Amino acid sequence: MTKYIFVTGGVTSSLGKGIISASLAKLLQARGYRVTIQKFDPYINIDPGTLNPYEHGECFVTEDGAETDLDLGHYERFLNIPTSKANNITTGRIYQNVINREREGAFLGKTVQVVPHITDEIKRNIRILGETGNFDIVITEIGGTVGDIESLPFIEAVRQFRWEMGQHDSLVIHLTLIPFLAAAGELKTKPTQHSVKMLLEYGIQPDILVCRTEHHINMDIRKKIALFCNVNINAVIESIDASTIYDVPLLMLKEQLDRTVISKLKLSNKNEPDLENWKDFLGRLKNPTSEIRIGLVGKYVELPDAYKSITESFIHAGAKNECKVKVECIHSEHLTPENAIEKLKGLHGILVAPGFGVRGIEGKIEAIRYVRERNIPFFGICLGMQCAVIEFGRNVLGLKGAHSVEMDTDTPHPVINMMEDQKRVTAKGGTMRLGAYDCDLKKNSKAAAIYGKPHISERHRHRYEFNNEYLNQYENAGMIPSGINPENNLVEIVELKNHPFFVGAQFHPELKSTVANPHPLFVNFVAAALAYARKN
Ligand code: GLN
Repeated sequence: MTKYIFVTGGVTSSLGKGIISASLAKLLQARGYRVTIQKFDPYINIDPGTLNPYEHGECFVTEDGAETDLDLGHYERFLNIPTSKANNITTGRIYQNVINREREGAFLGKTVQVVPHITDEIKRNIRILGETGNFDIVITEIGGTVGDIESLPFIEAVRQFRWEMGQHDSLVIHLTLIPFLAAAGELKTKPTQHSVKMLLEYGIQPDILVCRTEHHINMDIRKKIALFCNVNINAVIESIDASTIYDVPLLMLKEQLDRTVISKLKLSNKNEPDLENWKDFLGRLKNPTSEIRIGLVGKYVELPDAYKSITESFIHAGAKNECKVKVECIHSEHLTPENAIEKLKGLHGILVAPGFGVRGIEGKIEAIRYVRERNIPFFGICLGMQCAVIEFGRNVLGLKGAHSVEMDTDTPHPVINMMEDQKRVTAKGGTMRLGAYDCDLKKNSKAAAIYGKPHISERHRHRYEFNNEYLNQYENAGMIPSGINPENNLVEIVELKNHPFFVGAQFHPELKSTVANPHPLFVNFVAAALAYARKN
């Protein structure tokens, strides 16, 4: 039977519920349990796919094509197992399901209400993953902060769910903040007491408190928290700031979070956690033998969360190469032909980021010209790949005004065109080419060598594609389509013949890089940048 763990947050947002959930899941997985994590987001959008990255950070895309919260990226990077659309549910989705059923007549004669209809739908979504039979433990992270109006139905659903289940079948972990008052020289427990009190008002007694803190919590403070919040002393878990998120599983192990969970859920005590590979990764991450500088060219660089999966992929690939990768964000809007040399000098590789719309596009194209002409390693992702095609068209093939029709509908050379089946699409939500698609790699190409196999599958999120009418011209001049979708011949990878590393991917490799499986394109890009650094 599946056991359920709920993770709520109190006092403030941004305490890192996602990382704590992923770390606990990692420890349980390392003991041999089958674990997954799902996230409930209390906003009304059906999914974050239509949100600006400035609002909500990166949009993470699952194998089955759901546009989801970036925490799902952490879950996958820690656990090395894919998530799906069932792993991220918003208030919007819950209401949509209920309202659709109301229109079908499922509630004929009845008034449809938050309790029980919305809470029933939330509970149904909590159970979905457990009912697959694939998991011993489902961790459900409730987004937002306890006390927010919008998360109330979720909290109420958790209360009902726990009441309906056996005593040892579920538990609640409440993540809270223990602030340090410098003037008093003290850690303060009052905000935690208040936030637990608020949970109690909603009928939920947390079983475990994970206390985020900048300073160690001594025994007196632990006792005080335990006493005022009705939890055992060993259920007061310190979560101190860490230098890397990948340290958190080991910090939680030290605090015995996994043991406490196992005993409260009366799980059969499996093996001690096997974290050898994890520790090996951390060892290499923290003891690099070299260092490189990579430029990340994009237009959302003010908000690092906008490129979360990319920066994490560099961490995985850096550790693999025992190399510290310093990612330097470069605003594409500020790059011009006049200042490119100044702004890009000294970099050992450049990644041009995914994106939408015309803002900053010329800066991206300029950065690509810079690296192509100087034989500096280049990696383009999605829009970054499309920009590489535009740059090559304009500056090598002499196609004046070459562009993507996304940016210029009247371009004389639409080298990036809208995909055929996208032309009929008018609605914006969830209508891009999304999720995993197969791709065949060209024999003897760089891509085939990097992957070490002829067929791959990668995740997508786009509406535009390489225009195959220009394919011959590009190939003859040295830009090779080295990855092709076998069903419709879409170009998924381009690479340059006479360049040490110049690869553009229409898909998003960053979505599949994990601690256990760093993505080969990132690993090889970092290796190429390292080789360039050594030579120059
Ligand atoms: N805007 C481009 C497209 O829709 C690229 C999308 C992306 O970079 N994810 O095709």
